[in-house]
Amino acid sequence: MAGSDAMTAADQLIATTPVTHRVNLLGLTRQQLETFFTDLGEKRFRAQQVMKWIHHRGVRDFEEMTDLSQSLRTQLGNIAEIIPPSIAEQHDSQDGTRKWAIAVEGGSLVEAVLIPEGDRATLCVSSQVGCSLDCTFCSTGKQGFQRDLTAAEIIGQVWLAINSYDAWQSGKGRVVTNVVMMGMGEPLLNFDNVVSAMSLMCDDLAYGLSKRKVTLSTSGVVPNLDRLAEWADVSLAVSLHAPNDALRDQIVPINRKYPIARLLASAKAYLDAQPDKKRVVTIEYTLLAGVNDSVEQARELSTLLNDYPCKINLIPFNDFPNSGYRRPSGNAVSRFWQVLTDAGFVVTVRTTRGDDIDAACGQLVGEVVDRTRRAERHRAGRGDHSLLESS
Ligand code: SAH
Ligand code: SF4
Repeated sequence: MAGSDAMTAADQLIATTPVTHRVNLLGLTRQQLETFFTDLGEKRFRAQQVMKWIHHRGVRDFEEMTDLSQSLRTQLGNIAEIIPPSIAEQHDSQDGTRKWAIAVEGGSLVEAVLIPEGDRATLCVSSQVGCSLDCTFCSTGKQGFQRDLTAAEIIGQVWLAINSYDAWQSGKGRVVTNVVMMGMGEPLLNFDNVVSAMSLMCDDLAYGLSKRKVTLSTSGVVPNLDRLAEWADVSLAVSLHAPNDALRDQIVPINRKYPIARLLASAKAYLDAQPDKKRVVTIEYTLLAGVNDSVEQARELSTLLNDYPCKINLIPFNDFPNSGYRRPSGNAVSRFWQVLTDAGFVVTVRTTRGDDIDAACGQLVGEVVDRTRRAERHRAGRGDHSLLESS
């Protein structure tokens, strides 16, 4: 200990050299932080100490990290920082749902939503600013793609959510018990940063969530799904939304590149690579009135998924201005659910939460950023009205 307290000439140089680019330690995985400290000539366990300060106690000021020597604290203050993104807006729903518009560097906004439910609280996290995949019913898709979030900006959403409840200070129980990568963006198109952030979500020195309680949702970036098992073992959700390629080609354009059969095979291979053989893929199916919600389509879906290791989550469409789609009636949702349930599937229907604060995917940011003109251009360019006319 005493040895590492003494400042070497190199340490002094680092400590006194003005720095322009500090390393943001918030987004570094355990391994990356260990490398950071060994590169400084410090012991690896410094990483563990610092991770606990950041992720267990919400501390950002190195001076508060009292189990580090004063010289190391000073050095860290000169070369590193702990910077979460900042909260632009916070909305609380009457049902306990809390939603944030989060400002990231460059002035863009992303969103995160915390949905408490009994003894669970699920945080929905964004992975990109906007999205390039252009699913026709998605408000994030209509905003176009701006940039990937950094690992610090992704894990920072968890950090901010916990911090917003003063949980660290009050020693209250866990604010976040589950994380779903179902906010803005396509997580598999921001592979490295998402993998790093998910590793922190599951690391005991950070948020310690079980891998079953962290879910990556993808619309089907198959090449990256093919390599996901090498890097992560979290739960997987696949955004299917259609029982055949003809319809999916229209509403989830990436299907034209990676059709349903390839996507389902890739998701199955991901499961097969996991040691836990009881795991299943969650099939997400957003119900759009007159587009994909008929009894015939429910039967077709049931045939498609026959013998496939999955459960099905039906999501009644969340409307937004100029969407061009409608949410099906409660009866239509029930009929669809019944066909699948009768066929033996485990089927859940996502209940709408936080309706009074627009806590659905991609919607709060839409209020902050005027995207109406973009949405109009988008629809004029794509001509997706054919879908609506058939309704
Ligand atoms: N890009 C990823 C994750 C983010 S979207 C993906 O597509 O899976 C999370 C889920 O919300 C996806 O299943 C998506 O299709 C669905 N979704 C997007 N917009 C929606 C809307 N307006 N109403 C209901 N579900 C929507
Ligand atoms: Fe992107 Fe997912 Fe929205 Fe499709 S549904 S545009 S993949 S965020």
